[in-house]
Formats: sequence, C-alpha cells, structure tokens
Amino acid sequence: MTRVLLCLAAIAAVSPALGADPNTPTVTLTPEAATVAIAGQKLSAALADGKLTLETPARPYHLTVSILHGDGWATPERCTRQPRPRRSRDAAQVSITYPVAGEREFVVELAAYRGVPALFVTSRLVHRKHAAGDYYYWSTDATSERYAFPGEGGPREATVDLAQWTTLPHHDWLFLPGDQGGLAVLPTNMAGRAPGAEGSFYLHALPRSTLVGPGDALRASFGLAGVESAAAAAKVSAQARRRRVPALALVSREAAKPDYGPPAPDWVRNAGVYNLYYRPAAQWTDDVVQERLRHLPFIVGSTPDKAALERCHRARVRLLHYVIYTCLLDTAMQVREGGTVYSEWLESIDHERRDLKDHPDWVCIGPDGKVQKDAWGQSHGHPGLLNTCLHQPGLQEAALRQVRLLMEMGFDGVFVDLAGPTVECYGPKFGKHTHPDPTKTNTEAYAELLARIYQTVKRYGRDRVVMQNTCTGVLPGQWRWCDMQMLEAFPFGSESGEMTATWPELQWAGLRHAEAVKHGKLPVLLPYLSKVPEARVREASLFSFAYAHLYGFLWADAFTLHDRPEARAFAMELYRVRLGKPKGAPRTSGTTLYRAFENGLALLNPSKQPVTVQVPAGRAPLADVGYGRALTPSGGTLTLELAPESGRVLLRKP
Ligand SMILES: [Zn+2]
Repeated sequence: MTRVLLCLAAIAAVSPALGADPNTPTVTLTPEAATVAIAGQKLSAALADGKLTLETPARPYHLTVSILHGDGWATPERCTRQPRPRRSRDAAQVSITYPVAGEREFVVELAAYRGVPALFVTSRLVHRKHAAGDYYYWSTDATSERYAFPGEGGPREATVDLAQWTTLPHHDWLFLPGDQGGLAVLPTNMAGRAPGAEGSFYLHALPRSTLVGPGDALRASFGLAGVESAAAAAKVSAQARRRRVPALALVSREAAKPDYGPPAPDWVRNAGVYNLYYRPAAQWTDDVVQERLRHLPFIVGSTPDKAALERCHRARVRLLHYVIYTCLLDTAMQVREGGTVYSEWLESIDHERRDLKDHPDWVCIGPDGKVQKDAWGQSHGHPGLLNTCLHQPGLQEAALRQVRLLMEMGFDGVFVDLAGPTVECYGPKFGKHTHPDPTKTNTEAYAELLARIYQTVKRYGRDRVVMQNTCTGVLPGQWRWCDMQMLEAFPFGSESGEMTATWPELQWAGLRHAEAVKHGKLPVLLPYLSKVPEARVREASLFSFAYAHLYGFLWADAFTLHDRPEARAFAMELYRVRLGKPKGAPRTSGTTLYRAFENGLALLNPSKQPVTVQVPAGRAPLADVGYGRALTPSGGTLTLELAPESGRVLLRKP
C-alpha cells in the first residue's frame, strides 16, 4: 500500500511538459515504470523487477539482469523506495533502488542528455553489510549474427561463431544490426554473445567479477540507442564522449571513500619493486641473498630463521614474514588422515600454540555442524588444514603472540594471507563453542584481528608494515589496517599465459585505487610469469611492470621470471630497475600511456596492434630495459615502436 502511494506521489512531481522539443530529455514516472526519453527513443525500468525496455523507431529491445546468488541467479525485487527523478535543462535522470537477495541492493540509474541521442544505464550492485565476491550481467534480446565496431578507416564488421560463447573485443561502441537499422551499444566493459541462432548479446559489469566490500558496489554501465547504421553508432559514441557522460566513465563518483588511515612509510612508497621467496631456512644462503635478494628493497618470506633475517638486513634488504589465521593445521588429523606435517608449519614460529589438535574450540563449524575443512587443503593433500573460528579470544591471542615474536626478532612487517571474507562459523548453534559477540559474523570477528595485527606491528615502529592479500582483489575498506594490499595473479596467473584481466579492468583497477595511492597506500601486483610463452615473456613482463609503475603500484613476480633459465638475465635486470618518484601523472599519446619518473620513463601499449609513439624524453641516452641497447632522444623527443600489449621501461644512465 505504502509503495503505491509513494509512486503516485512521484507522478505528480515530475509529469513531463506536453509538446516539448524532442531534443529535450524528459523523465516520467508511473506506478509501473520509470522512463527517460530523448529524440524519439524511450528507456523504461520496470519497478517490479528492474527489467529495461528500450523503445526505438525500428523495434523495442528488452534487457534483463542476472545476479549471481549461491549456485543460482537472483533478480531485483520490487522497488520499495520512491524512485528519485532529477531534471535540469540539459539532463533527465531517475534512480531506482531494488532489494536483492543476500543483503544487497540493485540501483539502476537511467539518464538522457541534450545533444546526445542515446539513453544511458548505470547499474550498481551494492553490498549493504558484508564483503563478498560478486558477478552479474545484463542480457539483451538482440540476436544478430554480425556486429560492427570501430576500425582505423571507419566501421568494420565481424561475424560471431554461433557454435560457442563469443567474447567481443572491447571497443567504444558496437553496432548490432537488425532488420532495419540496429542497436548501438556504448559499453564500459566486455560484451559477448550466447551461442545458437537465437543467442543474445550480453554486457558484463566492470570488472566482470570482484570482491565487493560493505557500502561498495559492482557497477555495469552503458549507453544504448536505436540507430540506422554503424556510422551512426560511431557518431553517437563520439557525441556521448564529448559530453563526458558519467555512465561511460570507468570509475563511479559514488565509489566508497573509506578511512585510509596513516600513509605507509616512505621506504615502501619508494620501493617500486619487491618479491616473494617462500623457501625453508636452508635455502636462504649467502649466495642466494647476494645473487638475487639483495637487488630488491624488500622480500616476503616464510622462514622465521634469525640467520636468514640477518643476512637480508646486512644486504640492506627488508624482510616481511608470511602469516595466516583463517586456516590452521590439526597435526594429529593431518597425520591420521594420510597427510604429512609440512616444513612451513614445522618452521613457523610458535606453531605448537596454534596447533588445532589442542584447540578443538578454535575450529570453524560448518552449517552441517561438522568441522569446516579448508577447501584448498582438501584438494592439495592437507586433510588436517581446518578453517578457524576467529571469534575465539584464545586464537586471537595466539595470532598476536606470533606477530609480536616476529617483530621482536626484527622482521620489518607481516604479510597476512587470506585477509578477505572467511567462511561463517555455526559453532554456537551446535553447542560446540560460544561467540563473545554473537551478532558478529566470522568475517567481522576476523576484521577485529586484522586491526589488532596492524596496531601490534606499528607498536614496534611506524616503519614496520602490514601487507594483506584477500586473493581476489583490493578491498578499499581494509586500507585503515594495512600499508599494502596484494593483487595476486594479476594480470598473469599461474594457470596460463593469458592475461587474467581485460584492459578496461586493468584501467578500472588503476583508477579505482588511485585515491589509496594518493593517501600513501600501496596496491602491490603479483603477476605469475611462468606460463607466458617464451616469445611473449619479455613483452608481458614489461607490460605488468610498466602498468604497476603507471598507477603507483609495486611489482613482484615471485621469481617466476628468474626461474626461467632463458629469462634469468632479463629478470635480474628488471629487479634492479628503480624508476624513482613519478614526475607528474600518467599521460597518453594515442592509445599509449606513459609516465615520467626521476630516473626514466615507463610506457604501455594496451592495444592489440603495434604502435609507434613519440614521447618527450630529455636529451640524454636511455637504457632500453630488456632490449640490451641505449636510445638517444632527438631534439628532446624519443620515437619508439611498441609491440602489441607490451610495456617499455627506459632508464636514464647514471
Ligand atoms: Zn565459532
């Protein structure tokens, strides 16, 4: 009842002027839908379920959203709040909020702008309470077997393979031809087409999927217009981009602005590169430290060996220590069920105090009342690796005790693995143990421990640091309690040599975390370079290295490049690169991005074509890292050829 009254009240407030100029954007509300219109086209969102209808002169198009929920899909439920229309002389907008299962909200904003004959959709899947991974997509009822996209001399056309799922390359616009004219799509991320003659086109969010923190959102935004031809699609895209339509920006102005806390110490902010070396104490020899570790400002290791730490410190290399608390070993169960107690556990300082065999009350209890075994451990031969109940004061004390012992040994910080959301514990429901604050989730109890870890580390000096790894992304809400957050397997994973993120997603990450970098916090990249084909490994390594430097992130490779004999010399050259502080923001030249630093330049060609670029580069010769040569600028400008999807690093010679 209340809902109907609210919607009726809204109709009176924004009824459109009759006989208005068709180029004036309008917004209307009825009890069933919110609609924006311009230039003879209308886009409506149903208040019952968030379905969109685009009415064009040729035909209507329908769009529906599918939101991942457990093993299935959820759709928006009837909106419970009055839609919010906004109208000015040059723009008409309306925002509709729908509840979605899983304590989420789906916000759809429709917009139209004078001078741009297209309609725009910005959708945001907002997490109200909890951080969780999320994924959704919009599907259309456009089913064409061909599509057009921008090419160098004008629109180009391609056909889709009807036998399989097709991911379309990212472009500023796509044209999906129909019987008359067709649909212009202005996407911010990747689009694709389902298989079969009737397979429909769909649009992904940007990024396609990610970990979404409380108050933050996963956004999918795009423009739509019925147009006569591919050339008309190109024109409307140019008009929208000139108008700087917010729906086509990669990062939303509404993105959560968390409390960043104090900046990381300067030695981290100036590091540029770091690395990971997870080896037992016996492999931290003088030779290893001298041959490779000493060229890096800091290392993350997993051995609490005093001699290894001293060797690193003598070589002026700082050392962080690996810790993990969301899963621990029950050594008795591990042996009983056929596993072995591995060296990392046996070497780990104070491990006896964290052995779950003596602390059954610290074990996470699953929804079935049984011990919750760690999913990774189960598939990697560790049957005794169990998830933990982070509510338990004893477990929190044991964790903090390990951190204190490491700090007292002289480690420069800790690396907290699996710092993202953890599995829920149902211990109290089955009478297994109690939770001091039963209103908190296991993840919320863990957040308290993460805060205490940071406070404990900083008690030993502001120069000590905390790096977190959620494994799936950077959580802006967690910056308060760490100096660095890792982007693991980004943009190259350990499974294949293909990039794990698309260029729009890489740009999104760079822009999304720019605010954190400004506040002195560091996203740290960890691409794995072991599976990149030999012919591409130099370009791929330099791509990830230049990308990290362009956006102010740190770079590491877990020595995956060093472990490839053919790339070892190049790896050593890369580990030694110190570009220093940036001189200004990243700049563009055509599709190439570049940034000047105290000691050189980083360049990136994200396109799939080779490019020739001219950049200001001073007068002195520059070492072309990885190419074994020096380049001399002519008249202060350097002309360079960049391979497709490659980076370049140019170092001023000392
Ligand atoms: Zn519990």
